[in-house]
Amino acid sequence: MTRPILLVEDEVAMATLLRQGLEEEGYVVEWVLTGEEALARLEHLNPALLVLDVRLPGIDGVEVCRQVRQRWPDLPVLMLTALDGVDDRVRGLRAGADDYLAKPFAFEELLARIDALLRRSQRQATRYLLRDGPLLLDLKARTATCGTQPLSLSPREFDLLAYLVQHPRQALSRLQLYREIWGHNFDHGTNLVEVYISYLRRKLQKAGCPSRIATVWGIGYRYEPAEEPL
Ligand code: CA
Repeated sequence: MTRPILLVEDEVAMATLLRQGLEEEGYVVEWVLTGEEALARLEHLNPALLVLDVRLPGIDGVEVCRQVRQRWPDLPVLMLTALDGVDDRVRGLRAGADDYLAKPFAFEELLARIDALLRRSQRQATRYLLRDGPLLLDLKARTATCGTQPLSLSPREFDLLAYLVQHPRQALSRLQLYREIWGHNFDHGTNLVEVYISYLRRKLQKAGCPSRIATVWGIGYRYEPAEEPL
């Protein structure tokens, strides 16, 4: 469910810094040093986003981008260019990069661009930390907290809540939730969804998190996030 960000950067110090910063923000990062490696990794990895340095040994970022566009047209590409590299930027955009950032840049700006690209492409499942108001879900540690209060959730409750938070403002049918969380396809299972939703609502309420799980009559449920996207 969690899609990584693929970082292609041959400068080790830079890459280490970026990876660390992104991981602190809750992203999962895969890092490769060359364009060849990036293309090889893309065969198996289904990343949410590509952060691509333009100046790479071997095939350069522009060429990587061109190949990515042909083979994975929906993958958002953020290119990192040299400050004076007007030519790099133009070539990058022509090759199909969605955005670029000139080095050196503030990490905050990189984050903002990544968030914007992910939002635009609706690739949401990249973060292993899901925050909504006081609610925090850590998909790696599989822990949930409401403010400072830990929420004690069963594995299914956790999966259900995470799924809801990851699909905000969408009417999700009971059957869909049942399939996603329990992995089966019987209609009778949908009653289980109701039961689990009621557990979740109760637990959230008790921990001091207002339940944002709205009932959609005749269909199922919709998660109404506390926070509007930036
Ligand atoms: Ca480089």
